[in-house]
Amino acid sequence: MTSTAPFTATVLGLPRIGPKRELKKAVESYWAGRVDAGELRRVARDLRTAQLTAAVEAGLDSVPVGTFSYYDQMLDTAVLFGALPPRVAGIDDPLDAYFAAARGNATVEPLEMTKWFDTNYHYLVPELGAETEFSLHPDKLLTELAEAIQLGVPARPVVIGPLTFLKLAKDAAGDPLARVDALLPHYVELLRQLATAGAGWVQLDEPVLVTDLSADELALAGRVYSELSAAADRPKILVATYFGTPGAALPVLASTGVEGIAVDFVAGTTVDEVAAVTTLGTKVLVAGVVDGRNVWRADPDKALGTLATLLGSTGALVVSTSSSLLHVPYSLDAESDIDPTLRSWLAFGAEKIAEVRLLATALHEGTAVVAADLATARAALASRAADPRLRDDTVRARLSALGESATRRSPAAERRVLQAERLPLPLLPTTTIGSYPQTPAIRKERAALVKGDITPEQYRERMRAEIADVIALQEKLGIDVLVHGEPERNDMVQYFAEQLHGFHSTANAWVQSYGTRCVRPPILFGDVTRTRPMTVEWIEYAQSLTDKLVKGMLTGPVTILAWSFVRDDQPIEDTARQVALAIRDETVDLQAAGIRVIQVDEPALRELLPLRAEDKANYLEWAVSAFRLSTAGVSDATQIHTHLCYSEFGEVIGAIAELDADVTSIEAARSHMEVLDDLNAAGFALGVGPGVYDIHSPRVPSVEEITTSLREALEAVPAERLWVNPDCGLKTRGPAEVEESLRNMVAAAQAVR
Ligand code: GLN
Ligand code: ZN
Repeated sequence: MTSTAPFTATVLGLPRIGPKRELKKAVESYWAGRVDAGELRRVARDLRTAQLTAAVEAGLDSVPVGTFSYYDQMLDTAVLFGALPPRVAGIDDPLDAYFAAARGNATVEPLEMTKWFDTNYHYLVPELGAETEFSLHPDKLLTELAEAIQLGVPARPVVIGPLTFLKLAKDAAGDPLARVDALLPHYVELLRQLATAGAGWVQLDEPVLVTDLSADELALAGRVYSELSAAADRPKILVATYFGTPGAALPVLASTGVEGIAVDFVAGTTVDEVAAVTTLGTKVLVAGVVDGRNVWRADPDKALGTLATLLGSTGALVVSTSSSLLHVPYSLDAESDIDPTLRSWLAFGAEKIAEVRLLATALHEGTAVVAADLATARAALASRAADPRLRDDTVRARLSALGESATRRSPAAERRVLQAERLPLPLLPTTTIGSYPQTPAIRKERAALVKGDITPEQYRERMRAEIADVIALQEKLGIDVLVHGEPERNDMVQYFAEQLHGFHSTANAWVQSYGTRCVRPPILFGDVTRTRPMTVEWIEYAQSLTDKLVKGMLTGPVTILAWSFVRDDQPIEDTARQVALAIRDETVDLQAAGIRVIQVDEPALRELLPLRAEDKANYLEWAVSAFRLSTAGVSDATQIHTHLCYSEFGEVIGAIAELDADVTSIEAARSHMEVLDDLNAAGFALGVGPGVYDIHSPRVPSVEEITTSLREALEAVPAERLWVNPDCGLKTRGPAEVEESLRNMVAAAQAVR
């Protein structure tokens, strides 16, 4: 039995993909039939063992168990409560059923995938329906718990809580929260089994409590945790909130019988909010003072100040990360090729665990015990604050000299007239979103360049050959606005981060994005400046090959921020303006090089949307303003395009019109053009290219299908404003299907014209 006493140092969850992406490799080998399930389980178990042992050695006295996953924790929760949809539940082998739910197979459609709160992690959306009947399948969790206890780990099993599980599910029958009474008995039984298996504490993750909840939902939260804490035979319950303040949910939770509450002091909870809830005086407060989702070393004095203030308001105080470490890379150890000064400012997963231990020791035993470590931390922070790379006076002066007018172009109608005169475009112009297939050959060239097997000059020649092929293909197909195909870009953010000052591109700092897919977000640490053009040579070359218009392709400031680890020492809007200025300089250079159409992609615009309604307007204001700053430096005759990667606009619909791009391409094929009605309702009157086919599927759309889509679109949008393009970039598709699909797209556009 692990202890039921309060602990002192913990984290809310551990990453699982492996320090060297071992799990990714094992899972993909299993999918490819190269290893069997036994081998996959062995790799997973070894990873868990190493990780749990390391966490205990590093001094955590309560360690989360069960945050391991072969794919995703929401999917695990659906399995735990027998809530897989029937099309999957029918598959005999549980592991095959699991992966079918995650990624589909020849006959089964996978669950939908979407962003986990405001992070870059994607979870699978549980599907509930009339046939859903919850049942308990705790084998995975019990196995991992037994494994940990056997290792002598002070294990704290972690499960997604009922509110979050239900609220994030989609329910064919209506409000998924209405099922709570059917679900709760299974949680009660799970608690009983966990206690029997030796768990002293259980953590129930309820990040949904940091979003806006109705009065009914808050009351439900109170009832759920009163009922769960009334269960007779159970571990102590820690309810974990993270990614924001629980706000009104905090007193509600505190008035139930749960023993502990985890609160995120990095993402907005204040000590005053905690002090105001007197019922917290008898609870264990797990204080998230070490940022669990950004890579900066914590300020120990600030954290200790927060902790000292909290001491009087709680029954027991535990030091923790603000969230699971799922969102940061494993350890700085893997990052060998990094400037030592920059390195000293950072803390990845392993270093964060050490920070938690340090703070807990300082809190409970006094700072003298850890004086040396505190001194190291303070010295690193001082070096960061004083580093000249954090302040570039030229860029700051340029930005303050740019007034409000730098975000404004002439009225759209005037621009349209100028552009119509200058740009040779037919009615219903056809174009693509930017990338063409990133073939194995292209990736091999890039790997060869990185390894030094080919010279930059050779690489350049090979990429130019790719560009020439892509231009020739588009000319052959009869596309109207061509692109260069982006062969030279490893990633649409990293490509720019590698060239801008103020960013560090990591070598091995992988973070799970979804399933086996990992990303390496660049670290934006200083003032951002562009020292030379980043794309002009490629685009200019592409334009030199054709008389048709070639569209310059850039990534927008909001997306660059969303897919990076961003500095935490200044307001994000200031950082956004610096990135915007760099992109703006690039648009001006592209224009000077004769490029007349420029696309600035913002697929992540909606991702950074704050979780609370009260914060949304401010976000949209700076995000829109950063985009406009990046695009308003060109003349009215230069046509600005943008691309958005989602079709349910919801709260960002108004912002899309305010971006004021001459043409906006958007995902629409799967939502059957409903987006156009939404845009119309929001008063959008600019050019729009609703994706006419879904690039996420290898299927080639027929001419008839695309024609139908276009006719549907024409019911909502006049022909003068309508563009014809796929849903998104083509980099993940094969060359043959791309050619066929685009041929059909052009034929459909011609038919409708
Ligand atoms: N221009 C990028 C591409 O075509 C856009 C990708 C995206 O929307 N995520 O790949
Ligand atoms: Zn896209």
